Amino acid sequence: MKRICIIYTGGTIGMERGENGYEPGKEPFANIMAGISDFVSPELPEYDVIEFSPLLDSSDVTVSEWNLIGRTISERIDDYDGFVVLHGTDTMAYTASALSFILQNLSKPVIVTGSQIPLCEIRSDGKDNILASMMIAASGKVFEVCIFFAGKLIRGNRAIKMSADSLIAFDSPNYPHLADAGIGIRYRDSILMKKPDIPFEMKALMEEPIGVIKVFPGIQVDLFEPIITRKLRGVVLETFGAGNVPGYCKELSSIIEKAYENGNIVVVCSQCPTGTVSLGTYAASSPLKKAGAVSGKNMTTEAAVAKLYYLLSCGYPKEKVKELMEKDLCGELDE
Ligand code: ASP
Repeated sequence: MKRICIIYTGGTIGMERGENGYEPGKEPFANIMAGISDFVSPELPEYDVIEFSPLLDSSDVTVSEWNLIGRTISERIDDYDGFVVLHGTDTMAYTASALSFILQNLSKPVIVTGSQIPLCEIRSDGKDNILASMMIAASGKVFEVCIFFAGKLIRGNRAIKMSADSLIAFDSPNYPHLADAGIGIRYRDSILMKKPDIPFEMKALMEEPIGVIKVFPGIQVDLFEPIITRKLRGVVLETFGAGNVPGYCKELSSIIEKAYENGNIVVVCSQCPTGTVSLGTYAASSPLKKAGAVSGKNMTTEAAVAKLYYLLSCGYPKEKVKELMEKDLCGELDE
């Protein structure tokens, strides 16, 4: 009999309506599950539920919760066939991205899921999301961190939250789904991560000073100069299209150069959900390239943020951080 571990961290899936809006419910999640007949079906793997305290709206999840989820899995990695992490949807793509760097050489599935409607409410999408996640976690086919949501299995570090209110809340616009759950679960074996032949390892992340700056028409980059050049160690610059910035931002090149001198890596991502950054394709991006900004290629902002935390936490020299940022480490980008 397969056995999986369900780690409940919070999020809408276990929430109830309170005075100020949805908040974590009081009833232990294991009791809620035990009261739903599908969760005692013999077709499901056996499971244990670990409940975090406090339970969080995922807006409150930080590096320390990512590490806590990582540790919770790492300490039990040999005891279970797979793991399901129940998490709020708002920052789920960040957490899944971070876990893909924290949990290295995974030989067990880690499936992150949640819901848009609480489990205790009519029409909740939570039950189906958990049931399919449990079956995938026990399938023995997946060796990576994924998000399962609304019938789709998505690589964690390729996922983005697409909708604040649709039940189809996640997608990976720059990467095919790893599996689709219809009447059966159809896996795309050719694009799933292969089982690693090196031992599992956990790499905790550190709370590095990282920023995300979204370029917009009329941006006055000089206003950001002090934080980019002095305060931060990593910046994700969300640019237009293939990595373009306004030509009037003449100071940007010297800001990026000075930032790098001071040990800050500027990574260029795109505001477009599909396609890739290609520095130098347009004159509007070549100053970034000349100044030494790193191409985030087709990484999501979520993955770029997690990867910056990871590479900076490894303590690598800035040249190495810059080099690895453009390399595919765990399926997060196409080189
Ligand atoms: N605010 C909630 C959270 O991210 C939303 C959700 O779970 O759907 O925790």
